[in-house]
Amino acid sequence: MQYDVAVIGAGPAGSTAARYCAMRGLKTLLLDRRRFPRPKTCGGGVTTAALNAIGFPLPADIVRGHIKNLCSHIGNKTVRISHTRVFMITVDRSEFDNYLVKKAVDAGAQFHQDECVTGLAREGNVFSIRTPNNCYRAASIIGADGVHSATARLTGLKNSRKNCALCLSLDIPAGLDNRQSETIQVYYDLVPRGYGWIFPKGDRISLGVGGFTGNYALLGNALQKVAVIAGINLPGNIKGYYIPCGGQTKKCFSDGVILAGDAAGFVDPFTGEGIRFAVISGMLAGETVWNCFRNGLSLKKENLAGYMKKCHRAFLRDFRCSLLLSRAFFSLPSAMQGLLFHNADNYSRLLHILEGRSTYRKYLKSLLARLPKYCVKKTCQTQG
Ligand SMILES: Cc1cc2nc3c(=O)[nH]c(=O)nc-3n(C[C@H](O)[C@H](O)[C@H](O)COP(=O)(O)OP(=O)(O)OC[C@H]3O[C@@H](n4cnc5c(N)ncnc54)[C@H](O)[C@@H]3O)c2cc1C
Repeated sequence: MQYDVAVIGAGPAGSTAARYCAMRGLKTLLLDRRRFPRPKTCGGGVTTAALNAIGFPLPADIVRGHIKNLCSHIGNKTVRISHTRVFMITVDRSEFDNYLVKKAVDAGAQFHQDECVTGLAREGNVFSIRTPNNCYRAASIIGADGVHSATARLTGLKNSRKNCALCLSLDIPAGLDNRQSETIQVYYDLVPRGYGWIFPKGDRISLGVGGFTGNYALLGNALQKVAVIAGINLPGNIKGYYIPCGGQTKKCFSDGVILAGDAAGFVDPFTGEGIRFAVISGMLAGETVWNCFRNGLSLKKENLAGYMKKCHRAFLRDFRCSLLLSRAFFSLPSAMQGLLFHNADNYSRLLHILEGRSTYRKYLKSLLARLPKYCVKKTCQTQG
C-alpha cells in the first residue's frame, strides 16, 4: 500500500499533523519508535494558547493541575502573581500524547508503533521508509520525530545542537495543598540563560532545570538546589534532555518533506514552551501537504515553501522578539530583571502571551514605553 503522507513521530506535532491529514481524507500513516503510552520527560505545562491550538477539549482525567499562580524567584527576591484565570494546565505527557494519538487514529490515521525509522529514500515521487521490520511507501513525509530528528538527518535538513538548551528533569510524588497545586515556581539565577522549575501535577511535581550550558555538573548542582527547596531527595542518574529553543534558523522543508515541532526547532526561546508550536506547526504541515493534494500540485519544495511563511506568520516572527527578550533578560540581568520585576504588572503581562492574548512584540513595545519612567525612578533611588 502507498500512503499519501507518512508522519514520523507521534508526539504533539506528529499526532496533530496525522489527525489533520486523515480528517481530510489523505491516506495517512503515523509511525513511532516507541510503544504507546510511552514515557516522556517534560514539565507538562500546556498553556491556554496551546489548548486553543489543539482545538478540542481534553478529558478531565488527563488534566493534572489548573495553574493560576506564578511565583518567580531571582536571587533573594520573589515576585508572586495571582492571575484571575487559569493560564496553563499540567499533564502527564504519556497520557496526553496517547490521547492526541487516539484522536489521530479516530480521524482515520493508521498508527504503527514500535517502528523506528532508520532509512528514507526517494525514488521518483515516492519515499520508501525503512524500519527494522518493515518498508513503507508514501508520497510525502512529515518529520515530527523530535529534537534528534532522524528525518532531518536522513533528508539533509540537518539540525545542530548549537541552539539547544540542556535540561535535567524528573517527576516525583509530592503532597501539595490547594494553593501549591495551582502555582508554578520558577527559579532564575541558577543556570546560564535558563531557569529551574517546580510544576504541580496532581499527586506529583515536575522538577527541573534547563539552560544554555553543556555543563552537566552545574545543572546537577542547580537541580539539587531546587530539590532542597521542594524538600525532596533526588534519585541518582538523572538524564539530560535537549530543548531546541535557541531561535529557529535552519531549513524545514525539501522535496516531499516537511519538519514540524522540535524536529524543526520550534520552541519559544524565552520560556522553552514547545507543545503549542508542535501542535500549530503539525497542523500547518498537514495543511500544506493537503493543499498540494487538493490542488493537484506536485510535492516539490516550491509548493511546500508556503509552510515556512505560515509558520512565520503564526509564531516564528514573534520568536525573534522572544529571543531578543531572552538575550536581554539573561545578559543584562540587573537592568532587565529590575525592569521586569520592579513592577508585578510588567511581569504578569507575560502571562497574556501564554494565554495567546498577547505577543512578545507587543510586550517588548510596552516594556520600552515604560523604560524612561523606570530609569528616572532608578536614578532618583541612586541619588538619594
Ligand atoms: C525537560 C523538558 C521539559 C519541558 N517542559 C515543557 C513544558 O512544560 N511545556 C511545553 O510546552 N513544552 C515543554 N518542553 C518542550 C516539549 O516537550 C517539546 O517541545 C514537545 O514535546 C515537542 O513535540 P514534538 O511532537 O515535536 O516532539 P516529541 O514530543 O519529542 O515527539 C517526538 C516523537 O518522535 C518519536 N521518534 C523519534 N525518533 C523516531 C524515529 N527515528 N522513528 C520513529 N519515531 C521516532 C519519539 O518516540 C517521540 O514520540 C519540555 C522539554 C523538556 C526536554
